[in-house]
Amino acid sequence: EGAINRIAAGEVVERPASAVKELVENAIDAGATRVEIAIAAGGKTLIRVTDNGCGILPDQLPLALSRHATSKIDGSDLLDIHTFGFRGEALPSLGAVGRLTITSRVKGADAASISVAGGKLSPVKPAALGQGTIVELRDLFYATPARLKFMRSDRAESQAITDVVKRLAMAEPFVGITLRDVTGGGEGRVTFRADAESGDLFDALHGRLARILGAEFAENALRIDAEREGLKLIGYAALPTYSRGSSTAQYLFVNGRPVKDKLLVGALRAAYFDFLSRDRHPAAALFIDCDPQLVDVNVHPAKSEVRFRDPGLARGLIVSALKHALAEAGH
Ligand code: ADP
Ligand code: MG
Repeated sequence: EGAINRIAAGEVVERPASAVKELVENAIDAGATRVEIAIAAGGKTLIRVTDNGCGILPDQLPLALSRHATSKIDGSDLLDIHTFGFRGEALPSLGAVGRLTITSRVKGADAASISVAGGKLSPVKPAALGQGTIVELRDLFYATPARLKFMRSDRAESQAITDVVKRLAMAEPFVGITLRDVTGGGEGRVTFRADAESGDLFDALHGRLARILGAEFAENALRIDAEREGLKLIGYAALPTYSRGSSTAQYLFVNGRPVKDKLLVGALRAAYFDFLSRDRHPAAALFIDCDPQLVDVNVHPAKSEVRFRDPGLARGLIVSALKHALAEAGH
């Protein structure tokens, strides 16, 4: 069981950034409006995610740590997925590769905590906490030296964590997110901060993109709002003059989930084909939302690839919506 957990864990948790992604997604799934992340040594020695979400009841804590236990799906329809989590894999995986402590409190109930190290659970203990959850992961991969060896420098792992946090922050403009580096103790240093945005979705998204991609992107961004046969596309795409020499300013999301998908990136390129030379890349943050039945997000455990039931429809929607916006802006 221990060995199997550790092997399976490798698929979900490749590096500190993947642990951060799973924990922040859990916080968002729990309805949090504030998420605070603290890391030390590039997340290798400490990752702590604090949220003000719904919390976990004391008697549910052991369940949250057992494999394939999820409160988010009833098992009847694996395709009908509305939350980030659905596999019930992240927490048990993290408990197999690090020292994990969860402290949580549901409004009106007692706070409690549970720890797991090397796959072994401690008993649930009373704790003190306001509403929400703190998940603390220490010494990631301490029990798997082979994986430890593959981790990169603290700086590189921190950078990967910042990237993950920025993508999640883009997808959740109404959630306030702070990332702190607490290497060396104390309050640490804030390395990323985005306060909760307000207004309608487009206002909030525009504000969040200005925060993350900068005012210049926001000023040059065309609003995208289109729909075709049950696929909805919203977001902002920059004017060709704002294009970049690398593709690093391309952010794509499907049902709120950050994805790196060839089909979608290809569609983005195709829309700008007439306006950009080969060495320039369009900049955009685009969100496709659809009935979970129309897209399979279950392709890879790290969940960054997707498979549309009708790939041509997704591609066509992006190409036509972007071309239309560019034409309206005089291109
Ligand atoms: P999944 O997210 O796929 O359900 P996880 O292993 O990530 O699986 O989490 C297991 C369960 O623990 C979740 O289904 C949820 O009930 C609970 N949980 C985890 N993190 C939180 C959190 N921050 N707030 C409230 N509940 C949580
Ligand atoms: Mg999860």
